[in-house]
Amino acid sequence: MNCIFCKIVNQEIPSNKVLENEDFLAFHDINPSAPIHILIIPKKHYENFSQAPEDIFCKMSEFIKEVAKKLNITDYRLITNNGKKAGQEIFHLHFHMLANPEGKLIWPKMV
Ligand code: 5GP
Ligand code: ZN
Repeated sequence: MNCIFCKIVNQEIPSNKVLENEDFLAFHDINPSAPIHILIIPKKHYENFSQAPEDIFCKMSEFIKEVAKKLNITDYRLITNNGKKAGQEIFHLHFHMLANPEGKLIWPKMV
């Protein structure tokens, strides 16, 4: 499949990994929008949030919390862009984890 995140899962292209288990992977965004900007993905390919089965999200939530623990952060923002008009560019489900341990994240106007 010609999906960049599948290639990261398969180690065909490198990534700066934060945490990994059998089902999920977390790595640094190549073009960070905050001092900490991590992408969290299931290893299995689903197009986006609305295309993924509900039953992955229990384990995915646990994994996301483990990532925060590993980074030693308690305050963070989670975003998933669901669809082109929402800003989705990579069509493999991912959550953005954004944090600014030294300050506060702004909430930008997006229109
Ligand atoms: P989206 O717009 O689909 O919600 O987010 C895609 C994100 O993937 C963007 O923040 C972009 O910087 C990041 N990204 C795109 N290509 C790569 C890559 O090859 N490696 C990494 N680590 N991040 C990528
Ligand atoms: Zn994929």
